[in-house]
Amino acid sequence: MDRFTKIVASIGPSCESKDILRQMILAGVDVCRLNFSHDTGETQGHKIDIIREISTELNKPVAIMIDLQGPKHRIGVFKTEEKYPLVPGQIFTFDSNPKPGDSKRVCLPDADVLRSLKPGERILLNDGKIEMQVVSAEPTSVQATVIRGTEIWSRRGFNLPDTNVETSVLTEKDRADLEYALTKQPDWVAVSFVQRPEDIAEVRDFITQRVSYPIKIMAKIERGNAVDRLSEIASAADGIMIARGDLAVELPFERVPAISRHIIRECRKLNRPVIMATQMLGTMVNSEFPTRAEISDVANTSYLRADAGMTSEETTIGSNPLNVIETMNKIMTYSDEDALHNPYDWLRVENAPENDWSRSVSSMAFLNKAVAIIVFARDTNTATQISCRRSDIPIIAVCDNMLIANQLCLSRGVIPMYEPDLFAPRDAFNAARSVGITSGNLVIVDEDKISLRKLD
Ligand code: PGA
Repeated sequence: MDRFTKIVASIGPSCESKDILRQMILAGVDVCRLNFSHDTGETQGHKIDIIREISTELNKPVAIMIDLQGPKHRIGVFKTEEKYPLVPGQIFTFDSNPKPGDSKRVCLPDADVLRSLKPGERILLNDGKIEMQVVSAEPTSVQATVIRGTEIWSRRGFNLPDTNVETSVLTEKDRADLEYALTKQPDWVAVSFVQRPEDIAEVRDFITQRVSYPIKIMAKIERGNAVDRLSEIASAADGIMIARGDLAVELPFERVPAISRHIIRECRKLNRPVIMATQMLGTMVNSEFPTRAEISDVANTSYLRADAGMTSEETTIGSNPLNVIETMNKIMTYSDEDALHNPYDWLRVENAPENDWSRSVSSMAFLNKAVAIIVFARDTNTATQISCRRSDIPIIAVCDNMLIANQLCLSRGVIPMYEPDLFAPRDAFNAARSVGITSGNLVIVDEDKISLRKLD
């Protein structure tokens, strides 16, 4: 296996045609992310259909992850479309009055947010370029001092790094989007602006009331208070996305790399796949080559042994999304190979899930120089637990259920295979041969039985 780190590609206008999508999947895309902040309904449904068609034609599992917009807060409109001046030190008011705003006030349409704000808390607008601090708060009107920023205009998004907003993680739009998306059977649902484990329970309830198959839920960590409750949120969810864009607004940006490392370690312990996201190859929106810093960022995702790296605008609106995937594939392939020079990572208990059997599997494979671990995967659990060990030995997961094969596309080092008719330990050799392995030791895991076989 050449690449252990998986590639999640955000799909948008630049790569919606079947031909480009097919080339991107052949170039290494493991998971397609459909962002419901932009297109919704039928438009996204059409993309899901095309991806499923390509996956069937290529006989290659590809996961589909829908990403809900979540409660992204925005201020209301101003009297004109112009920018209104702000002076640091001045008082600015946010209220529930729907009248267009001016340089002294604007409507904040979300009543839950107005109610939640308290004196001393910060309001960061426009990706943190404007900073204000609440000086007084009533249920329908909040006064804040301008700390930083010189102009404000209509519909700016804002972050509240110090505030626990008492609102549902699913907006009306999210409910409608999810309702529709569930008819298309996605493999993963990513939830934005998670604050607490109950948010995940709410989404899971919504899903289980509508469909009976086990869709996986990805919690996007982009709020400071979500970092504080990471273990509980990761335990409630099935995977974690490190959404560095909003995270670097909510928290001092210098903390984001340390938090990312912490999240990856925690996810490995808890047996949850983890995605490094946002601006990985951002300049490739309109450049043929990545910057040196971007090359290092992608490589570090691999060296940190995250499960996956994600593309964002560089594939959705970029000039050459295929080139982006080829670039990411090239960097990860080289770095994964280089990371093999430190093969003892999996032995470090602080990085590993708390169970003995995945350690036994990894030890057996390592000590016998196994070329692959073959798992007969009736669910995702066995393969992901072994993957979390990061023994850097490919894990071939033979699945008789397409959903399981698709969901495992996100797990580091796992090669999922959908084989409805090939599903018994004696077929392990066929599974190995079908991914190009012709000789060497294999560790075979079938439910609780672990065995060692030699393929000649
Ligand atoms: P978004 O999430 O693309 O939904 O904004 C990613 C991030 O904030 O990093």
